[in-house]
Amino acid sequence: MQDRTHTADAEPGDTVTVAGWVHEVRDLGGIAFLILRDATGKIQIKFEKDEMDEELVETGLGVARESVISASGLVEEEPRAPTGVEITPDSLEVIAPADPELPLDPSGKVDAEISTRLDNRTLDLRKEEVQAIFEIRSEVLRATREHFRTVGCTEITTPKIVATGTEGGTELFPITYFGREAFMNQSPQLFKQLMAGSNLEQVFEIGPIFRAEEHNTPRHLNEATSIDYEAAFSDHQDVMDVCEGVVRAAYDAVAENCQGELKILGLAEEFEAPEEAFPRLSYEEALERINATGELDEQLVWGDDLSTEAERALGADVGGHYFITDWPSEIKPFYIMDHADDEQLSTGFDMMHPRMELVSGGQREHRYEKLVEGFKQQGLDPDQFEYYTKMFKYGMPPHAGWGLGGERLVMTMLDLDNIREAVLFPRDRQRLSP
Ligand code: ATP
Ligand code: MN
Repeated sequence: MQDRTHTADAEPGDTVTVAGWVHEVRDLGGIAFLILRDATGKIQIKFEKDEMDEELVETGLGVARESVISASGLVEEEPRAPTGVEITPDSLEVIAPADPELPLDPSGKVDAEISTRLDNRTLDLRKEEVQAIFEIRSEVLRATREHFRTVGCTEITTPKIVATGTEGGTELFPITYFGREAFMNQSPQLFKQLMAGSNLEQVFEIGPIFRAEEHNTPRHLNEATSIDYEAAFSDHQDVMDVCEGVVRAAYDAVAENCQGELKILGLAEEFEAPEEAFPRLSYEEALERINATGELDEQLVWGDDLSTEAERALGADVGGHYFITDWPSEIKPFYIMDHADDEQLSTGFDMMHPRMELVSGGQREHRYEKLVEGFKQQGLDPDQFEYYTKMFKYGMPPHAGWGLGGERLVMTMLDLDNIREAVLFPRDRQRLSP
């Protein structure tokens, strides 16, 4: 194999060996062009049939689209070429020929169903707009990590195979663990709390969560990426500040470092990081505003959870990211602390994009007796969670945290209509491979 010396962004004057995929072959008679594509872009390779070695021309023009080739030659300026330069090849090698029958057209000229695209993700990612999504996703995760480190967090990774679930039994995936029943973890909740009580104090994790969701929806996956944060000596207000900081950091980084990708996605003009502080509405205010929109058939009353329609109506009314705070305790998880002066009111909060929920969090119950009581009221056996509750007997500081859906962050940021667009190999009720 000829070693690649340059990528498709080579400059005029360079003598290069480039390697990549055959994007297109255009035969105009006496002259023909092969467009070669790699991660950096495309470059034109020119064939002048009468002046060049016959075998070279034959190989270059006979190769099927999406084959992998390498070509060597001089790069020259050519204003009529798609990128303003072209290579006149001295040699050309077919490294990996492609079957001429492709299941998917990577040039994007022929649209494909999402299921065909997901079955052929390798080919799908050869489309620049699909690649752009995953470049941006990568930047979001990078910026998120950097922001957490800047505010003093330690990155942790916690087990995904667990003995017990936390977020409700129905959404658990059971597995067999050396003859014992085990589960795929729904959330790093308990582990990150245990670390907030360690000397680390402030921790974050970016990792998979597994949920056997009841329905297939455009915003639920059965394996999702959760961005989790937990901090000792913090309350719900403090961690809402950090939540806002992380989301802002992600948007800022994309605005700063992904202009090319945004342009490919047609978002360069409209993309902007949220400017204002995210409004913090109480649950009660949220109900009033939703009811006032007149969008719902039935008025919401205290204690109701917010339906998808309710979230949409409120989102349209607010018009940007916002928090909903002070939920009724009964509809927030038992491990979240109630307000000291009102037991009916939880310190739990959600952070919303106008389209959907992105984050849930709150201040945690750190008092041992209250926590064990909570397990019992929830119908969970505290003994099964002893590995967790016992640490609350050995000096557990007040702490708070949240979990942010990574795919939902990318999906809402890029206005994608389906969460499956934001993950390479989605897991949903039908899809278990690839
Ligand atoms: P929803 O009500 O939208 O199903 P949830 O309240 O059950 O979400 P939480 O347990 O609060 O979810 O999880 C925290 C965050 O993780 C959510 O706000 C969301 O961004 C993300 N998340 C949860 N479940 C999923 C899922 N099945 N697919 C993708 N993201 C998810
Ligand atoms: Mn939630």
